Amino acid sequence: MANIFCIANQKGGVGKTTTTVNLAAGLASIGQRVLMVDLDPQGNATMGSGIDKREMKLSVYDVLLESATVAEAALWSATCRYHVLGANRELAGAEVELVDVERREKRLKQALVAVDGQYDFVLIDCPPSLSMLTLNGLCSAHGVIVPMQCEYFALEGLTDLVNTIKQVHANLNPDLQIIGLLRVMFDPRVTLQLQVSDQLKAHFGDKVFDAVIPRNVRLAEAPSFGLPGVVFDPSAKGSQAFVAFAAEMVQRIGRM
Ligand code: ATP
Ligand code: MG
Repeated sequence: MANIFCIANQKGGVGKTTTTVNLAAGLASIGQRVLMVDLDPQGNATMGSGIDKREMKLSVYDVLLESATVAEAALWSATCRYHVLGANRELAGAEVELVDVERREKRLKQALVAVDGQYDFVLIDCPPSLSMLTLNGLCSAHGVIVPMQCEYFALEGLTDLVNTIKQVHANLNPDLQIIGLLRVMFDPRVTLQLQVSDQLKAHFGDKVFDAVIPRNVRLAEAPSFGLPGVVFDPSAKGSQAFVAFAAEMVQRIGRM
């Protein structure tokens, strides 16, 4: 059975997509079978996995509207060594088109059942909102990975997400839990970041992943080459941190 995880945070630009593609590549590099699902009409995770979003014949949009299966729409990224169920601007229309559809928040979940045995991990990159698209992600998943920057309002910003996860857990998906909080773009020279990191550990205990992703320019450069940092420059500090995170995930799954 695949472990299905959403990478979510309603805050924009916190590192969701960077986490999704680098964790996918990190897991693939240690022999895991991975499907990366892009649920963001921006299509950054698609492009960042070496798939041109403008050239795709089928995408996650077709899967949500049930005009294609996951097996038909997913593409193999030879450079990244994982499958990509991509997204592009078309996906922005899905929100409206699904309005009158029954069980609209469960479309992705239903579609993923058919490929469950083919993957060890399904990672879903969510848009920076708590929309119908994100809801489809949360209804499909066993858990949520929350990337966050250790900034002043970090804990406050988590409240909305934690409440949404609680509601989805209570009403739509009893499997859903927070797998963990991932500290990203971390700079240990900044005292405030160390303080917020300590606060996170005090509040969330072992829900805070041991792996810490440093601020690293190679991770930021990689998307312009259509690659995750882990593939673009495996020796970079940020890439090594993501591979360590992938190993930690595999270990945690064994304990779950
Ligand atoms: P959105 O909410 O728009 O989907 P996001 O949460 O997916 O954004 P990313 O796109 O992953 O965030 O990251 C935002 C920006 O920060 C990008 O330019 C990315 O390259 C950069 N970035 C992410 N992580 C790091 C890091 N560890 N070090 C340096 N730059 C980073
Ligand atoms: Mg993103």
